[in-house]
Amino acid sequence: MKIIVNGKEAGTKEKGCALCGGTWGDYYEDIDGEKLFFCCDICALEFVNMANEIKKRTNWRKIDELIINGNYYTGRTCSAKNENKEYKFYVKFNDEGGVETFKELS
Ligand SMILES: [Zn+2]
Repeated sequence: MKIIVNGKEAGTKEKGCALCGGTWGDYYEDIDGEKLFFCCDICALEFVNMANEIKKRTNWRKIDELIINGNYYTGRTCSAKNENKEYKFYVKFNDEGGVETFKELS
């Protein structure tokens, strides 16, 4: 999965956390058969919950590309791609890493 967080490629230890872009920490989570780097378990949990929400709403089996803009406080405006399809949404998480707000954007 190709991931861009606030304009920078992310998802490995060198490039940064797949959700927030942070380069500290050392946490890995398997997403769609791929080992992605996260700064902490909360970011990983948020990412998993977000990916599940995307799949549930689009019926996609996997996500090829994810562009994330924003942060925990403002919420994140995102674009997910699967083959030639694009799905835009806004997401905000709660303190427990759950999806608090999820809005489809056009
Ligand atoms: Zn993070």
